[in-house]
Amino acid sequence: MKEIRFYEDLLELSQIKVDGVEKTTTKIILHCHQATSEEGYPHCLQPSSQVHQYTSRQVRDLHILGKEVWLHIRVKQYLCEACNRYFSEHFSFVESNKSYTKRQAK
Ligand SMILES: [Zn+2]
Repeated sequence: MKEIRFYEDLLELSQIKVDGVEKTTTKIILHCHQATSEEGYPHCLQPSSQVHQYTSRQVRDLHILGKEVWLHIRVKQYLCEACNRYFSEHFSFVESNKSYTKRQAK
């Protein structure tokens, strides 16, 4: 869908794929997910491949045309079978404990 591509280009977050767009009078909500993540588990550095479940995260980004932009991101949660510990997908454009993007923080 053209509109989705438009927002993906606008975001300039190369790993982020937009799945849907919702608009209200004050907000643009982009439902999205990260295409790939090649990170290891932080505890044992084994490659993380087993997606255990998905959670979601709401992160505020820069305004577009005076509207608030919110990214509703589907987050992969991995279970390391070696350590029996959980680990959530990392996003380079937002600190793990924040609800806004790094560029929004500026
Ligand atoms: Zn582990």
